[in-house]
Amino acid sequence: MKAVQYRRVGHAPEVVEVPVPEPGPGQVLLKVTAAGLCHSDLAVMGWPEERFPYPLPMTLGHEGVGTVAAVGSGVEWPAEGDAVAVYGPWGCGRCHKCAEGKENCCPHAAGLGILPPGLGSPGALAEYMLVDSPRHLVPLNGLDPVQAAPLTDAGLTPYHAIVKSLAKLVPGSTAVVMGVGGLGHLAVQLLRVLTPARVVALDVSEGKLELARTVGAHEALLSDDAAAGRIRELTGGRGAEVVLDFVGAQATLAVAAASVAVEGDVTIVGIGGGTLAVGFGGGLPFEVSATFPYWGSRVELMEVVELARQGLVSSHVETFSIEEAPVAYERLHAGDINGRAVVLP
Ligand code: NAD
Ligand code: ZN
Repeated sequence: MKAVQYRRVGHAPEVVEVPVPEPGPGQVLLKVTAAGLCHSDLAVMGWPEERFPYPLPMTLGHEGVGTVAAVGSGVEWPAEGDAVAVYGPWGCGRCHKCAEGKENCCPHAAGLGILPPGLGSPGALAEYMLVDSPRHLVPLNGLDPVQAAPLTDAGLTPYHAIVKSLAKLVPGSTAVVMGVGGLGHLAVQLLRVLTPARVVALDVSEGKLELARTVGAHEALLSDDAAAGRIRELTGGRGAEVVLDFVGAQATLAVAAASVAVEGDVTIVGIGGGTLAVGFGGGLPFEVSATFPYWGSRVELMEVVELARQGLVSSHVETFSIEEAPVAYERLHAGDINGRAVVLP
């Protein structure tokens, strides 16, 4: 089968032929129908050799959707032909966090060598993929697979981030979304459907700001030195109750710090390398909370899939063949994908 692999640190991913895997006991083999490309893949492919944590070659893709091609012994559900989405942050399945469905917070996974598909384990950018347990599958219930693939990360991660701040997003409040890419364009929609907050989107590209308006942002502003001042103006000096940073660079965190309201939340989702000083004298308004959420829980993925099934959120996608995946990554790197790039293997 064809697979898109990161083979050598510092080199572009390649489309190669690899054997179709066979499901062992308890495992599920999927025929992949759609796989999303995430900016995190670019971050991973930018890590230096001495700090590269995963075995190479590695099949990429941590946003996967497929139909069940075969199941290993002991698997009672799903059945062959079922359409499912893959929950990616695999945990140990036994600890307190995993028992709550928060496998994204499992403290044992890394130590046990349990790695997410596409981020250490063979991923979804292939014709077939192995899923380690039926626990990590969510039924699509009729949702279009191309729509569904981005939900497994670009939808789930902002959903998880926003749900943490719901209590602050009351009528009259403001939420800022910085970076209207794969995650950000779904964040805008999730804020609109889950909260009455006014949504202010920031990006560096006019095309992304246009997408932000199309998917429901009340305001879409250029992300520059004047952005924090504009947010203060729009909020009568109060600032935004919640700032979601899908870039995470020093420049965007500076805007976040300058535009968040007293008692507000700064939520750092992007892994752009910036850090925020929290504490007295750090420049933040009093009582601001800062967090850096990772992916989301199993039940949250079910909830996001349900929102999309009801037509309340939708992924804006550009589709590619598996051969085109390396070019799609180049375009993502260049900032030239609006919404999410989805590969149809
Ligand atoms: P993307 O490339 O699709 O979107 C990024 C967007 O940010 C683009 O629209 C780009 O124009 C915009 N941008 C760049 N610089 C900006 C700036 N200075 N101000 C405002 N906007 C700016 O990326 P994505 O796949 O949506 O991922 C977003 C970030 O979230 C990445 O850093 C990714 O690694 C990270 N991520 C984190 C998690 C997590 O669990 N915390 C999960 C998935 C992705
Ligand atoms: Zn666990």
